Amino acid sequence: MKQSNVTGHRGDIHDGLFNSHTGFLIDLACDAGRYEVVHPYERLDPARITEAPLSCPSCKAANSTDPTAPPHRGRLALEHAKAVLACADQRGYPPPLDDEGLRLAFLALGLEDPPAERLYPLIREHLTDMLTDRALTVPEGIPSVLVHYTRYTGGTLQAPIGVGDRLMHDGIASGNWHVVKVDAVEDTADGVVVTVSEKDWPHPRKWTGPDITRWFLKLDRAPSNA
Ligand SMILES: [Zn+2]
Repeated sequence: MKQSNVTGHRGDIHDGLFNSHTGFLIDLACDAGRYEVVHPYERLDPARITEAPLSCPSCKAANSTDPTAPPHRGRLALEHAKAVLACADQRGYPPPLDDEGLRLAFLALGLEDPPAERLYPLIREHLTDMLTDRALTVPEGIPSVLVHYTRYTGGTLQAPIGVGDRLMHDGIASGNWHVVKVDAVEDTADGVVVTVSEKDWPHPRKWTGPDITRWFLKLDRAPSNA
């Protein structure tokens, strides 16, 4: 998540919360909503991004240390995102990030006061940031092999492969999009070799580094408790 001050239609300066990879304005720290700054079906006018200090009273209050002020929507969303991720880690697989997945996650968490659906895009962005950080981190000492990784809310990066990662075969040519798990990444005399296994298929398969890069996409890093 990225933050920039933005000028609203009425001239107020708000605390704007952005997708860090696509630059999409997700929401504001106050209750006003993104349409206070961007018209429906239009892109944010870059001229609205400003260095000027906040003037919206609610955004100012949300950024103050006043304990009675309404919460900063970005920070509130971060707390919810952390809870969802911790719950998913306990189960051993990443959280579904669509609206229904988030709704079910909050149901499972048994929150007395689950977040309103309007907060979901910010929660989703925090979760995407956390899952991206995780996907980009593999244990030290593993030979480097990079594959494409697509963030859920947009943006493609090159991510290293580690043991336990889930990769998907790029089936754009074959129609075959099977998922594999990485069992080993090893330096050999012939270069890096990656061993992967498939559910319901007893024979692990070895791929060279360049072939893995060419044919596979990274879905996610192994769960943190693995
Ligand atoms: Zn505001």
